Amino acid sequence: MSENAGPRLLAVPPDDKLDRRVPVTPESAVKLVEQGWAVCVPEHMGEAAGFSRDDYQTVGCELVSNVDDAIASANAVLCVSPPSENLITKLSPGTILAGFLDPFAEPGRIKQLADAGVVSLSLELVPRTTLAQSMDALSSQASLAGYAAVILAAERLAKALPMMSTPAGTIRPAKILVVGTGVAGLQAIATAVRLGARVTAYDVRPTAKEQVESLGAKFAKIDVGETEEAKGGYANELTAEQLDMQRKALAKLCSESDIIITTAQIFGRRAPLIVMRDMVEGMTPGAVIVDAAIATGGNVELTKVGQEIEHQGVKIIGDPFLASRVARDASAVLASNFVSLLKHTVNPATMQPEPDSDDEIVRGVLLTYGGEIRDERIRALLESSSEGNQS
Ligand code: NAD
Repeated sequence: MSENAGPRLLAVPPDDKLDRRVPVTPESAVKLVEQGWAVCVPEHMGEAAGFSRDDYQTVGCELVSNVDDAIASANAVLCVSPPSENLITKLSPGTILAGFLDPFAEPGRIKQLADAGVVSLSLELVPRTTLAQSMDALSSQASLAGYAAVILAAERLAKALPMMSTPAGTIRPAKILVVGTGVAGLQAIATAVRLGARVTAYDVRPTAKEQVESLGAKFAKIDVGETEEAKGGYANELTAEQLDMQRKALAKLCSESDIIITTAQIFGRRAPLIVMRDMVEGMTPGAVIVDAAIATGGNVELTKVGQEIEHQGVKIIGDPFLASRVARDASAVLASNFVSLLKHTVNPATMQPEPDSDDEIVRGVLLTYGGEIRDERIRALLESSSEGNQS
C-alpha cells in the first residue's frame, strides 16, 4: 500500500493493446505526488513503453492488481482512450476523469458521464492559447504522430529518402506530399526534410504557406476560392465543390509522389476525404500512403482503420496510434500535459475544479460537472440525435 494518504489518482492505460502509451510516467508521478495525490498504477502498466514496476514503486506509486476496485475507490482517473462503459459504471460520483474523451464522436458517452456525476476534463477541449500550451495533448501527440508517420513510410518504401551520389549512379530523392499542415503535418515535413526528401505540402489555411516554406518544403498552390481560419486556428470545412477542386488539383501531385502523409482534420467533425480511389490508382506501384487522420475517419478513401493494405501496388497504412510507435516519448509528454492540466484546474484545497471559475482553460476543459454537460456543442449534438431518433 502507498503511505500517501492523499486523494487517490489512478492511471488507466489504453483499452487497445496496440496503443502502448500511458497517462502517468514515473517522472510525472513525482509531480502528481507533490500536488497531493496518492498515485496508483495498474501492475505491468507502461512496460511496453519502457517503464518498469520498480520505476513506479521507487517514486512512491501504489501498484494495483484489481483495476476495477481501484477505479471505484479513485478520486481521480487519468485515461488515454475514451472511457468504456465498464469504466464509467465503476466511477463514483464526484470522481475526476481526465483524458481524451472524444466528446464529438461519442456525445452519448458524455451524457453517461454527466448522469454518473463524474467531473470530466476533456483534453480535446484545451484551448489553443499560449497559456494552455503545456496542457495541449492534442498537439504533443500530433507532433510525435507526424514524426512516426514519416519514419513508418520510409521503412515501408523500397527507396531511399535522400539524394545520393554514388559511383554507380545518382539516386534521386524521394518525393513526399504532406496534406494538412497543422501540428502533425509540420512535424512530418520537418522530419522528411531532415531525411533529405523533396517535400511538397498543402493546407487550406492560407497562413500555412509561410510555415511550410520556413521548413524547407514547397507549398502547393491550389485555388479553392475563399477559405478562412475558424476559432482557435482550426480550419473550416470546405464545401463539396471546393473539396472536388482540391482533389483534382492534388491528383497530379499524388501521381508524382513516392510517399503521401495525410493529416487534414476539422475540429469536432469527420476528417475530409481528400485522396480518392482514382488518385491512388494514378500512383506508382510501391508508393506508400500513411493516413494519419484515420482516428477521425481518414483522408484517404481506401484506408482501413488499424490495417495496412495494398491497392494496385500502393501501400495504404491506417494506424490510429501513430504516436504510440514512440510510446516512451509520447507518454512522457502526455503525462506532462496531465500534470499541467491538474495543476491548473484543480483547487489544492478541495482537490476539485471550480465550476464557477472564469478561467478560460477551466471553462474550456470542464466538460461535465454536477450532473450537467457544460459544453453547449455537445448538448446540441445530443439534442439533434434525440430529435433524429424521435422522427
Ligand atoms: P487539425 O489536426 O485540426 O488539422 C490538421 C490540419 O488540416 C490543419 O492545419 C487544417 O487546416 C488542415 N486541413 C483541414 N481541412 C483540410 C483540407 N481539406 N485540405 C488540406 N488541409 C486541411 O489541426 P491542428 O494540428 O490541431 O492545428 C490547428 C491550428 O491550431 C494550426 O493553425 C496550429 O498552428 C494551431 N495551434 C495553435 C496552438 C497554440 O497557439 N497554442 C497549439 C496547437 C495548434
